[in-house]
Amino acid sequence: HSKDCVKVAVRVRPFNKRERDAGSRCIISLVSTSISIQDPRDCHNRRSFCFDYAYWSHSGFTRDQTGLFVPEEPGGRYADQHSVFQDLGVGILENALQGYNATLLAYGQTGSGKSYSMVGYGPNKGLVPKLCDRLFEAIRENQENRQCQVVDLLSRGSRSAGGLRVREELQRGFYVEGLRKIPCENALQVEQLMEQGTRTRTTAATHMNANSSRSHMLIILQLKQIFSKESITKQSNINLVDLAGSERQRSSGSEADRLKEGTAINLSLTTLGNVISALADVAVGKKVVHIPYRDSVLTKLLQSALGGNSRTVMIATLSPADICYEESLSTLRYAERAKRIQNRAVVNESPTE
Ligand code: ADP
Ligand code: MG
Repeated sequence: HSKDCVKVAVRVRPFNKRERDAGSRCIISLVSTSISIQDPRDCHNRRSFCFDYAYWSHSGFTRDQTGLFVPEEPGGRYADQHSVFQDLGVGILENALQGYNATLLAYGQTGSGKSYSMVGYGPNKGLVPKLCDRLFEAIRENQENRQCQVVDLLSRGSRSAGGLRVREELQRGFYVEGLRKIPCENALQVEQLMEQGTRTRTTAATHMNANSSRSHMLIILQLKQIFSKESITKQSNINLVDLAGSERQRSSGSEADRLKEGTAINLSLTTLGNVISALADVAVGKKVVHIPYRDSVLTKLLQSALGGNSRTVMIATLSPADICYEESLSTLRYAERAKRIQNRAVVNESPTE
């Protein structure tokens, strides 16, 4: 088995209304896969980063009759949902079909386009629904020689006090106890479950007097393929993760609950950052004694995605606006470290029982 680096993509969204109203300037520019960011207060301060993929979704688009965002002219510069899926989604799916675990993480400040990229809005379907469409197409095409089952995990206990427990087993690693697994027959069913999941996420946040952008959403698709001729079973997990907003918490200090929640979320993203840093150090040959997976629930659940048995892609989403300079720079730094992580993915296959 080979070492695979985490693949990192960046994507710049259009101005939102607030930014347009404020007369914002675009401080991000892209040339091929390199991205540079300009300090709005110092025109000599420009930083550049290079990633595996870089998507310009800031300008050069129009909406068709159905509301779909498409490039203004054919072959134009604007990266639409389709082209992002072609690069990132297809690979994730192919890996999963081959029996590798695959993970896709969206990282970025609130409002930067994480959910747009992962889930999408209206006709602009994101990576997850497109991936599901393709997955079930693949299942239909291979019906003769494979039996496939896809299972979506939806938490039942999200509103119960204390939530669900994360447990650890030697073979399996960390897992959430008591998650509901729902067998799905088609992409629409997955989409409906995702809507349900998104509603639960919003309701749960409201219950806790919080904002849903302060929570993480993990969609786990379990794919089991039985190759009857060869008597081989391949099993893979596709983890699709829409992370909480990465922006620093403004310490309003007003509500104790909000603060506590903010601290917990900060802790998990900070821990994720620490895990990423430690793994990035390992990758360049530095001696690292300890990788702090255990310091947060999020990193426990993403252990195999980070430095373990998974092919992993991170999409870092950015606002183009000058007013978001600090957050965007910090997102780019985070993404740059993630690029160095090396995983060791193996095909999960065993003789069919
Ligand atoms: P996040 O999940 O990071 O908080 P969203 O994905 O909800 O942010 O995006 C915020 C807004 O920006 C949404 O209204 C979304 O439609 C818009 N948006 C984000 N990315 C894009 C994009 N690539 N193209 C067009 N609109 C986008
Ligand atoms: Mg979101």
